[in-house]
Amino acid sequence: MASNDSFPDSSTIARDILNRYRQVYRASRTAEPFLRYGRRTVAVSTIAQQFYCEKAVALSFERPLAPTQDMRDGSTGHEAVAALGVPMTQEEAVTAAVAAREQPLCLCEFRIGWQHHTGVTVLGHVDEAWFREGHVEIVAERKFSNSRGIHLPYHIQASLYCLGLGEMGFNTGHTLYRISVLTRSCHDCGLLRSGGCPALSEGIAHFQCDHGECTGQVFPFEHETTSRRLDWALQFWINEREAQPTEHTSRCRHCRYRRVCDAGSR
Ligand code: SF4
Repeated sequence: MASNDSFPDSSTIARDILNRYRQVYRASRTAEPFLRYGRRTVAVSTIAQQFYCEKAVALSFERPLAPTQDMRDGSTGHEAVAALGVPMTQEEAVTAAVAAREQPLCLCEFRIGWQHHTGVTVLGHVDEAWFREGHVEIVAERKFSNSRGIHLPYHIQASLYCLGLGEMGFNTGHTLYRISVLTRSCHDCGLLRSGGCPALSEGIAHFQCDHGECTGQVFPFEHETTSRRLDWALQFWINEREAQPTEHTSRCRHCRYRRVCDAGSR
């Protein structure tokens, strides 16, 4: 569904959003697995990785490897921040997101799912999103990396969360997204776990302490660009084209699939 600016009453909106989400979710469990690798759905995080190197995504399905320590640290960091939220059912979360309120409400690990026009179901969990009366004010995405850059896959992931929330029925006409990049050492920080790290505050562009460092930036969500990028990514999943190796050959030097990838020796 496209973004819109006017909303009817909140219980009707919540019911519509929940019904749509449940239909998509149910269909994703029972539909014929028509995607590559026998899959029925594609995760937002996987689509974002396609913009780092799609060939590496393909190889991760064809020759799966155990997660590295850096990957495990990133997951631990995400879990630490997610644990700050109050557990809610999807019904409670959607009802709270559309309820009348003056101040926006923060919801963590918000489950999203929608069917793109190509027929592919996309699923994900939004790290953090702020809602007010059905409007999505801002989506926050956190990454744990020792590279300070805000790379394209981060934009893709956060933008897809915005797109998905709009497809579910929330108003994303003026949605922003914030990307925060924390150093890997932040993953086991006590201040982060307790919610006391200033890096979690909106409006903090840079924060450094003895333990780590965080940079953050806010961007406007662009519906058309995001939808076009999703079209491209899904072409791979519906077998319209083969996996594309990254154009950035420097990425190959650190890639775990370098030895088995035909593009790895460039
Ligand atoms: S070696 Fe390079 S092209 Fe091949 S999967 Fe790794 S990053 Fe991608």
